[in-house]
Amino acid sequence: MGQPPSWTPGSQIVYREVWQNKVWTARPVTVVEDTPHLIALYLCSGTRWKIPALPDPNIDRAYLFNHLLAAGVWQLIDTTWRWGDTLLLIRPGEAHAIHVMWRDADRAFTGWYINLQEPLRRTPIGFDFMDQELDIVVKPDLSGWTWKDETGFQQAEEMGLFSRWETRQIRAEAERVLERVRAKASPFNDGWETWVPNPDWPIPVLPDGWDII
Ligand SMILES: [Mg+2]
Repeated sequence: MGQPPSWTPGSQIVYREVWQNKVWTARPVTVVEDTPHLIALYLCSGTRWKIPALPDPNIDRAYLFNHLLAAGVWQLIDTTWRWGDTLLLIRPGEAHAIHVMWRDADRAFTGWYINLQEPLRRTPIGFDFMDQELDIVVKPDLSGWTWKDETGFQQAEEMGLFSRWETRQIRAEAERVLERVRAKASPFNDGWETWVPNPDWPIPVLPDGWDII
């Protein structure tokens, strides 16, 4: 068998986080671009998606997520994407996604979010990967950035969810992306902040079989 085909723009596909062969999250997204150089996916504000249910809303999310991952048992529930229109930019083979984000009220560009994650794997319904917990929030004008979820990331390492080797790889990938932020290099200088979705695209919904690995 050859490589699975790339997705045509406008296709509605499933973008999933998978841990130990079980779905951890599932988001229906619309394909903007799928080429050997770039995968661009549109996550529409208001999209219904699946996340693990948290046993206690008063306990720190990262702490709870790490313990669910360690136990290997969780229930998925429906939720709504509440972080505004988001474009996901992933270079095939690289271990991060760059999220381009806009505010609902006036579609103002609110900045870049770098999500450290496994390289995407193609599936019959979209793409699978697993999040690697560490994130970086970058100002819209690239003038500054902050780590996010660093405590949860350190805890994940201590719990053995990531090996020391994996942790070093994740931090090295983060440093490579930050170099691109400092250099204002692609994709940060490609004009994505003025991108708008095709108004004819409906909000996608998860298809039957979204949970089949
Ligand atoms: Mg993350």
